Formats: sequence, structure tokens, C-alpha cells
Amino acid sequence: MAELEGLEFGKSDFVLLDEVTMEQFMDNLKLRFEKGRIYTFIGEVVVSVNPYKHLDIYGKEVIEDYRGRELYENPPHLFAVADAAYKAMKRRAKDTCIVISGESGAGKTEASKYIMQYIAAITNPNQRAEVESVKNVLLKSNCVLEAFGNAKTNRNDNSSRFGKYMDINFNFNGDPTGGHINNYLLEKVRPSRSNITISKYTVFLSFPFFLSLCHSKSSSQASNNDSLCHKAVMAALKVIGFTTEEISSIYKILSTILHLGNLQFTSDGEHVVLVGEDTVKHISELTSTEPENTRKALLYRTVATGGGEVIEKGHNEQEASYGRDAFAKALYERLFAWIVGRINSVIEVKDYNPALHGKNTVIGVLDIYGFEIFDNNSFEQFCINYCNEKLQQLFIELILRQEQDEYQREGITWQHIEYFNNQIIVDLVEQPHKGIISILDEACLTAGKVTDTVCLDSMNKKLGQHPHYTSRKLCPGDKTMEFNRDFRIRHYAGDVTYSVEGFLDKNKDPLFQDFKRLMYNSSDHVLKEMWPDGKMSITEVTKRPLTAATLFKNSIIALVDKLACKEPYYVRCIKPNEVKSPLLFDDGRCQHQVAYLGLLENVRVRRAGFAYRQPYARFLQRYKMTCEYTWPNHLMSTDQEAVEAIVNQHGFEDDVAYGHTKLFVRTPRTLFTLEQERAAL
Ligand code: ATP
Ligand code: MG
Repeated sequence: MAELEGLEFGKSDFVLLDEVTMEQFMDNLKLRFEKGRIYTFIGEVVVSVNPYKHLDIYGKEVIEDYRGRELYENPPHLFAVADAAYKAMKRRAKDTCIVISGESGAGKTEASKYIMQYIAAITNPNQRAEVESVKNVLLKSNCVLEAFGNAKTNRNDNSSRFGKYMDINFNFNGDPTGGHINNYLLEKVRPSRSNITISKYTVFLSFPFFLSLCHSKSSSQASNNDSLCHKAVMAALKVIGFTTEEISSIYKILSTILHLGNLQFTSDGEHVVLVGEDTVKHISELTSTEPENTRKALLYRTVATGGGEVIEKGHNEQEASYGRDAFAKALYERLFAWIVGRINSVIEVKDYNPALHGKNTVIGVLDIYGFEIFDNNSFEQFCINYCNEKLQQLFIELILRQEQDEYQREGITWQHIEYFNNQIIVDLVEQPHKGIISILDEACLTAGKVTDTVCLDSMNKKLGQHPHYTSRKLCPGDKTMEFNRDFRIRHYAGDVTYSVEGFLDKNKDPLFQDFKRLMYNSSDHVLKEMWPDGKMSITEVTKRPLTAATLFKNSIIALVDKLACKEPYYVRCIKPNEVKSPLLFDDGRCQHQVAYLGLLENVRVRRAGFAYRQPYARFLQRYKMTCEYTWPNHLMSTDQEAVEAIVNQHGFEDDVAYGHTKLFVRTPRTLFTLEQERAAL
């Protein structure tokens, strides 16, 4: 068993702090980071600080140390949480989930990979071929999703631009039988021409044609690493089961996006003309479409007149560029969604008969962007922060409900704990007819020219009185709201000022039907499959598609429903500094994250209730050697009495409560002391 840590490494559980103050919390977090102890518990929650260096703590022996152990029997680690979730799933047939949150670069994706590796390592001891193959595909799918979904940003070289929720299914043996992936809000803004050189999706970097196509030669040189990555992605695609035809279509779509980046428009005084007909030729070859149709889609759009007549309307230069960019973004987004769907079709559990195989249980792993507060916050931050409000709401509900239920079952008196309920902020965003999303949608559906500022006026009017909403008019002279376009939400994690500029555009489906139809008519089957809505002609497109915000809201509500019926485990990731340094602990930045992750509150809740609980028999089995009345066997009439003898002998009476079947322990100190005594014998 791994040695429990000595005191020089600080407190391994924040519940052990002498006092729950920000100062003590931060001192402990910093001390542990500096000593290379990046993980710390808050009860069953793991707080993780990105070490920004390789640590030798994920190997086979470490995995063995954590396998099947209770949380407090080993130093804090992701593996402890992974094992707790796995045990609950296997022993009690509970569906569980592990929610990993934190800001960009805090280490969420790395954590999710270690958790997956742990689960892969401890399952299928008999090496059954079909289970190994499921595990292999699940692990390989990560590589593909990262290549297509991650990009280099200022904050993280390998930043996930989508939220990922992955269910892993298990049979009654506790071996993986399949899974399902959901992705949330892949950022559409990235693959467009304007920023293709700044934020690069990994797959483009590793893409062999990248250098010859990308107009900015200074962007990057294809390094050895990139070509290795390309090989890994190709290999992973094959292992998962993508056909040669599919892989070829994928790469053609990527090339199309790059070509679109090179496409320029100009005007001959009267009409918009394309610069470089060659590019159009390439695009139509790559997309298996007629060059003439491609040209047309780029320069014209079909509109239905009031009288039901269909006419072709030429773009002006600005509209043409806008259309091209929207097309490139949509191509990428649909490609990504299609890849996820294709992986799902391979990993979905087939032929599972509960009558034969027992209950099918699930562990879900959620790796999703945390709160974002930038200098300039736009629609994407609005969606992401709304998502985090929902997750916080779930956290509050689940932790409270879980505790309450168990106390009631076990006959323990519940003490009410006060903490901020953020439902009011969730409502501000999502309430039908009144919330921000509704107001946005209304503006998008209104015919004619509704601008971002008109929409903002409407929000100010309707929400001006809301305690968590501030319009600029209400705070004249406030430096953080300098512009007319700003509004502010008081999130549970802090105030965020959003600029409404671009909100309406990003919320609408900005893609002309002509592009959809062009793609639907492609003779490339894979490409065509991604564009079923291109089937409609312009006169049929009467129903407005759901807006981006509403689609996102619906997917987050579905996610929360999925999580709500599972037993949750949490990993809270913290980014120690902005410069990716393994040595620097930036006090201000870290404290900010601790505050908005609500970690102090978390400690308070834990301390107010009982942090640990254990069935009497198990407690007895583990600690009976520390008490003369129970070693080697006790003569009492019940296990509970024997446990009472152990507790009394150590003087822990004030720290415990006796439930019907379990012992409840308030602080980890009691268990740590028992663990130490046990180890010393
Ligand atoms: P984003 O929200 O942008 O996707 P993230 O929270 O997923 O960010 P990661 O990509 O997991 O962040 O981590 C960023 C980088 O930090 C990694 O590429 C890696 O270099 C380093 N890192 C994170 N966790 C660890 C760890 N446990 N050990 C070593 N390095 C780590
Ligand atoms: Mg990530």
C-alpha cells in the first residue's frame, strides 16, 4: 500500500484545516503544489493543480495501490476517485459519473485520460478478446476526438474546443461493453479564414497538405511531432473501424476547408467575382460537386419572393465572404459531429440482454470547459458560463439530496447547511419567454433588421430589475462597462461583462441554404450523409431552425438529466499560472479559481455533515486490530457494538454517529489516525 503522506506535505484533505478560511486553504494548496503533491481531497472530491511537468505517479504499481481501496487509505489521487466510482458501480450496481471541471489549461482532459486509463487497467483481468477490443476502441476514440476537437490557443496548446461527455457501459462482471459520446458546442469560430493561423485544430497541423495550402507560411512548420500525430490519427481511425472511403472523405473535407480559406472575392464594378477560378475547381473536385454549382453557391443565393417565385440574388463582396466563412465553419462542425456519430455506432452496446448478462451499469466521464472570464466575453462565454451555472445547480442538488437521503435512511439527524442557490441565475438565462435566451431567439426570428443593440435594449427593458443582471444604464461611470453594447451577469462565480456584439449572428444559423443543397447533391456519399437538410428546396425551408443558444440549452438540459440520475464524483482542476510553468504558483489567479469553484463552501458542507461512512462490518474488519476488545474477535452481540468499542477506546465519540447499518464519521482525522495505528502494528 502507498505510504500515507507525512505532515510536511500539508493536509491531504481540506476538511482537516484548523479553520476554514481562504488563507488557510490557499496556504495548504500552495504548500502541496510546491512539494509536488498536486492532488488534495475535500472528502470525496479531488482538487487537482496542473503540475505542468511529468510526474511519475500514474504507473502500474500506483494503479495497484489504489485498486479496490477506500479513499482515505491512500494519498489523494485521481485513481482514488476513479476507483470509488468504479466500486460504487460494481458493488452496488449504481450508475456513477465523474464530473471534471476547471478553466482552460487546468488539466481536465489529462485527468479524464488518466481516469480512463485507470478503468481500462483494472478491468478485464481475464483478458477476454472482445472486452479488450472495446477498451481499445474507447481509448483510441480519444485520440481522434482530440485531433479534430482540440486546437492551440493562447491559454492551452492542446485546448479542447468542445465539451465531452462519455458513458462507459459495464456488464455484471464490471468489464466495459461499450460506450457513448456526447459533444457540446464545438466552437464554430475557429476554422474560418480569419483565424486559421492563430487557433489551429490539431488535425490541420498534422495534415500533410497544410503547409502548401495555408497562406501564412510563418504559421508553423510541420514538425516530426505533427507527422507522428498524423500517423496516430490515421491508425486510430482504422482501429475504430473507419473505412478507407470514409477516411478519404474526411481528408477531402479538411482540404476543402483550407481551400476555402484561400478563396477571395473582388468586384468588377458591377458584380462580385472570384479571385482564382482554380480554387473553385479544386473545391468542386474535393467535394464531388459540379464546378458551376459550386461557383454559383459562392456568388449567389436563392431566395423565395413573397409571391412564391424563386429568384437568384447576387451577393455583394461582404455577403460572399460571410457565406464562404459560414460554409467553412459548418463543414467542420458537421464533420466533427459525423465523426462522433460514427464512433458511437461502433462503441454502442449491441446484443445486451439484461436477463442473460445482468444489469448494464454506466460510468460517465464529463470533461467540460469551466467558467470563462476574459477581457472580452462574447456569445461562446455566455453559453459556457450558463452551462457551468447548470452544473453548479446540479452539484448543489445532488450533494444535498444525496446527504439528506442517506441520513434519513440511516436515522441520523440532518443539520441544514446554508449555501447560495444559483437557481435564480439559471432562470435568468433559460426561463421561457423571460430569460436571455428567449429574448435572443425572439430577436433572431423577428423579420427585418434587428441589430445586436436593439436586442440588448429589449434585454435591458425586460431584465433591468433582475438582481443578477446589470445594464450599462444602471451603472454610469462603471469602467468595466465602457460600451453601449455591454451587459453584465452576476454569476455564482463572479461578475462577467458580455459584449452583445455578434450575439444575434452567432445565434442564428448563418448558412445559406444553397451551400446545404450543394453538399447534399455531392456524389461523395459520406459528405452527402452529413447534409440531410440540404434536401429541401428554398420554398420548403419555411420552418426556422432552432437557434444555437436553444440547441445548446436543450443539450445541456439533457446532459443534466443524464447526470442527475447518477452518483456523482468530482474532480476540480486548478491552473497554477498563466505561463505553463511547473514552478510558479500565482496566488491571485489560484485564489480566484478556488473562489469560483466554490471550494471553501464545499469544505464547509463537508465539515458540517459527515465526511465518511462505512458499513459496520467493513469498519470492524479493517480496524479491529487497533482495539483489545475486538482483536482477534469480538464477543459482543452485534458488529455495531464492536465498532462502538473501537471508537470509545480511541476517544472518537464526538466525531461519529451511529446509523442503522453504517458508522458516520465527521472528519477524516479519525480515519487517518486509525489508518496510522493499523500501519504501525
Ligand atoms: P481546455 O479547457 O483548454 O481543454 P484542459 O483543462 O483540458 O483545458 P489539459 O489539456 O488537460 O487542460 O492540460 C493542459 C496541459 O497541461 C497539458 O497539455 C499538459 O501539458 C499539462 N498537464 C495537465 N495535467 C497534467 C498532469 N497531470 N501531469 C502533467 N502535465 C499535465
Ligand atoms: Mg481539455
